[in-house]
Amino acid sequence: MLLTNGRIYLMDAWNTVVDTLVVREARIAFAGRRADVNVSGAEEIVDLGGRVVVPGLVDAHGHLMHLARARLTLDAGGAGSEVEVAERVGARAAKAPRGEWLGGRGWDQNRWADRQWPTRAALDRAAPHHPVALTRIDGHATWANSAALAAAGIDRATAEPTGGRILKDERGEPTGVLVDTAQRLIQRAEPRPSPERFDQAVGEAIGECLAAGLTGIHEMGAELYALASYRRLVERGLFPFRNYVAVAARSESTWAHYRERGPETLGDGRVVVGALKLMADGALGSRGAALHDSYCDDPGNTGLVLIPPDEITRLTLEAAALGFQVCVHAIGDRANTLTLDALEAALARGPWPDHRFRVEHAQILTERDIPRFRRLGALPSMQATHCTSDMEWAAERLGPDRLRGAYAWRSLLSTGVIIAGGSDFPVESPSPFHGLYASVARRPRSGEDRGWQPKQRMTREEAVHSFTTWNAYASRQEADLGSLEPGKRADLVVLSEDVFTCPEALIKDIAPVLTLVGGEIVFRGAHSPA
Ligand SMILES: [Zn+2]
Repeated sequence: MLLTNGRIYLMDAWNTVVDTLVVREARIAFAGRRADVNVSGAEEIVDLGGRVVVPGLVDAHGHLMHLARARLTLDAGGAGSEVEVAERVGARAAKAPRGEWLGGRGWDQNRWADRQWPTRAALDRAAPHHPVALTRIDGHATWANSAALAAAGIDRATAEPTGGRILKDERGEPTGVLVDTAQRLIQRAEPRPSPERFDQAVGEAIGECLAAGLTGIHEMGAELYALASYRRLVERGLFPFRNYVAVAARSESTWAHYRERGPETLGDGRVVVGALKLMADGALGSRGAALHDSYCDDPGNTGLVLIPPDEITRLTLEAAALGFQVCVHAIGDRANTLTLDALEAALARGPWPDHRFRVEHAQILTERDIPRFRRLGALPSMQATHCTSDMEWAAERLGPDRLRGAYAWRSLLSTGVIIAGGSDFPVESPSPFHGLYASVARRPRSGEDRGWQPKQRMTREEAVHSFTTWNAYASRQEADLGSLEPGKRADLVVLSEDVFTCPEALIKDIAPVLTLVGGEIVFRGAHSPA
């Protein structure tokens, strides 16, 4: 295939821009001037009409499994109140057979007038005869009704697991909200979708990612049932996407399986199981992020540590010995200190070249920890849209001093590290253009023109690197992915606007026009040239 008459940014070390690419056997065979290539053998010629091409955009932190699950369950996103979510549940319950589980995702009490936790009472009124379990938008809290609590055997006597919290009312009864590891008590009771329905949902979720402009993701925490689905889809040729998978350590059966098996590649690199995901703490929205000092809006609460630091060290050494990369979720400043300490302890146990240890989120950092990433060789994997979504209420949680080390892209970059860019979908939209816009503007997509800590912004070039070459490096795939140099896999996106030169406000509205994964056309947008 010949793609020509374009403005093709190779994203190589020399910032080369060419007008023509040749794709042969799923890889880039030539990148240069049309005049220098013999076009006679081309099977397909795509006239790009002057449009911009960038290397495949990859989301370094997404949840395909959760995006697929969300398609099968109730959407509680965007609701303006507890009552509104309960109404949606009531409407769903009216159509579901009595006793059927009603799952869902997406509520966010920080969008509600009083910003208070919801309670089971509202769900009991809406659906008294169905177990209901709704995951908070960030996946770090579950809101259940009485039927679901009963099905899971949760009552006033239930002990809180390590790293979890069961919210209780003044009489000591569970309110229905379970934070972080306490959610597992409910998740164990909730039935899984059938393989057929789940495969269908994964296919739709991939379609959603492609339509958003992605060519691949790094999935941070997949479980065995999802991996089984990816395998079935790859074998049937129905996986037009790339997924670099970190398996979820919290799913014991998943890690037990891969600890035996080691890393795995499916279907010419469509799915690469290459990493282990650990969770050091919770999240800011549910006050589970582990902080050195109390939350400003919840004195005495310093968040939750989900896994003891020496356990991070132990699992890190175990995974690394098997050839897995290790990715640790750390949001609060205390979780980040503990995670970097754990890495330091692991590195002290012997030489461990090229470990590319990742800290997922690295959201709130002390001044002292910022230079440690570079020193230890740890890579921050960050989600720019979290910054622009959280800026409304992050100050209430953290206060002005700690905000200085929050979403501190420039402070990190200036120490010499790279930042893997992602969205954490379905917490945020999977659109890489929303992420690129947030990275360079540090402003929400809607509302007044209010930038936030503008000194921490990225340049456009850095932002695009964070979704291409830097993500390739952060998944040990830089020999195959990230740039459009000859020899690499032909993953690329034709864009509706030039991300490097268009007015800044337009970056968020860029759309994919044509997308190739492994040289195959996997998405055609409006005005597609092919
Ligand atoms: Zn995540």
